[in-house]
Amino acid sequence: MLKFAITSISAACLLMSCTEQTTPTTNGAEEVFAAVQADPVLDFSNRADFDAADRGFIATLEGEITDANGTPVYAPAAYDFLKADAPATVNPSLWRQSQLNAKHGLFEVVDGIYQVRGFDLSNMTLIKGDKGWIIVDPLITKETAAAALALANKHLGERPVVAVILTHSHIDHYGGIRGIASPEDIASGKVEIIAPAGFTRETVAENILAGNQMARRAGYMFGPFLPKGPEGHIGSGLGQGISTGNSGLIPPTHEITLTGETLNIDGVEMVFQMTPGAEAPEEFMFYMPQFKAFCQAEEINHTQHNLLTPRGAQIRNGLKWSKHIDDTIQMFGDKIEVSFGSHHWPTWGNADVLDFYEKQRDTYRYIHDQTLRLANHGMTMVEIAEQIELPKSLASEFYNRGYYGTTNFNSKAQYQYYYGWFDGNPAHLNPLEPVAEAKKMVEYMGGSTAVLDKAQQDYQDGEYRFVATALNYVIFAEPENKTAKTLLAKAYTRLGYQSESGPWRDFYLTGAQELTTPLLKDVIINTSNPDMIANLPLDLFFDLMAVRLNGPKAAGQDMKVNFNFTDTGEQAALHLKHAVLNTRMGQQHEDATATIMLSRTDLNRIILKQTSFPALMKEGTVKVDGSLLKLRKFMSLQDDFDYWFNIVIP
Ligand SMILES: [Zn+2]
Repeated sequence: MLKFAITSISAACLLMSCTEQTTPTTNGAEEVFAAVQADPVLDFSNRADFDAADRGFIATLEGEITDANGTPVYAPAAYDFLKADAPATVNPSLWRQSQLNAKHGLFEVVDGIYQVRGFDLSNMTLIKGDKGWIIVDPLITKETAAAALALANKHLGERPVVAVILTHSHIDHYGGIRGIASPEDIASGKVEIIAPAGFTRETVAENILAGNQMARRAGYMFGPFLPKGPEGHIGSGLGQGISTGNSGLIPPTHEITLTGETLNIDGVEMVFQMTPGAEAPEEFMFYMPQFKAFCQAEEINHTQHNLLTPRGAQIRNGLKWSKHIDDTIQMFGDKIEVSFGSHHWPTWGNADVLDFYEKQRDTYRYIHDQTLRLANHGMTMVEIAEQIELPKSLASEFYNRGYYGTTNFNSKAQYQYYYGWFDGNPAHLNPLEPVAEAKKMVEYMGGSTAVLDKAQQDYQDGEYRFVATALNYVIFAEPENKTAKTLLAKAYTRLGYQSESGPWRDFYLTGAQELTTPLLKDVIINTSNPDMIANLPLDLFFDLMAVRLNGPKAAGQDMKVNFNFTDTGEQAALHLKHAVLNTRMGQQHEDATATIMLSRTDLNRIILKQTSFPALMKEGTVKVDGSLLKLRKFMSLQDDFDYWFNIVIP
């Protein structure tokens, strides 16, 4: 059985990964097609990024990073196949980006600042303080973070970790914290943890209610089920792979709330800039005067980022994002000599840094402004996305290319941010649901055989986008139509090969895989870790219970349930009525149907599926006052979510 770790909670980057490779995806290998052409605006002879990505290399790790049982969690060399020239199955621009992201090891940024790159999706930065290391963003899992720290200690001299800076609430920026700091060291004051205000809540709040849908789609977006190789996953544009070890969360000891706040950590002065509502709900960047160095966190990147991530999340505002970058330029622009982030490689030299910042700023601003300009001319979301193109001065910079977010998807996101999904056309107000629409559509088109004939011809002519549209109708009308599935898988594969975006490639190739091979339903999906559950705010837990309430089944029920936490003293009063579950924190119903008394620790174990309510009630650990029968009924109204719902078939 495949062992598989996924955490749905958080991430600009979801988190999944596969320790064994699955069946190869592609159907296109036997066919001969012309190589994918990159946008001619790009100058591939410009090797400056390669020089920057190699600059300061000190050493790397041979072999794999493993967990305590010896199970591999990340193999920095797994992408060594990228050292070859771009094959016909990959967009050369994405290939180039992956070559850069695949470089791994310990690098000197400047004397006193170091990065370990290519040990996970993100970078870990180490800053030399008076007594020890200040670590910025300790990767996704404790195993990769520990390996990164060990590599630095080996080559730069052993130093204790004195502080950890978490730039934002996505798991690739905090998940590995247990690999570099223990809760005891934090409690004793040996290690300080600094994060933006609201950090702990945001680590779960961004995704908790919507988690299963996001996690499933992230399985498309990051390609964990695809083989790594020229016909499969080659990187996500933001970074290469995602480590599969153990993630954790330790709450900060100091929160930053205001731009301009200055801290002196172990002799290193840091001036913080808050950037809420852009790449993450809460995030900061910071400037270090003594190094003339700026940490750009994930607001400025060597890729266009997502204004809406295709795994699904709340939409980000390109205007706000661009203004944060402009603030950076105004506050620190004349001082910065080196800029580094939590993904990709650094940028050196004030002129290059400023050019980079301005063009990243203007990319998000252009997409935001031009989307609204065209919308105000009456164009719809899809029309705008088809037409919008960055001006040459922005599009010709590799760091503005859509390796992660794309101009097309981001312009749709800005349309959606302001107008929602409806374009005002009454035909789109209330169409039939997909299967009913597909059946009618195929019937109107003269039946599936006629559609397939035309699709085959269009496929030969390279009209993959419409082939995908037409065959999607056939498959939703006739889910057993094997010919349609095979041809659609081929079209998706070709679209994947053409994509400049890592996530787009993975969406298409995963779609192709799911059309032609059974879903991996025996793969164990683990969507949470104990630290996150322990830090889950209770009100969010009850909101999640309300989301899991099966409305139709709950219709007509009227029940009041109290929760009373014996260890923390917290209380909650739940009221199920009108098929809705309302919760008031810190209260108890006097006329409750049932009152549950349990510890928060036991609740955490229940959420982690290590035990259950009935088991704990049998043990006597959970006590109930009131009607047990009605409480059982109440609990039976909670839905469980299945990870493996269908996407490419009805
Ligand atoms: Zn990240």
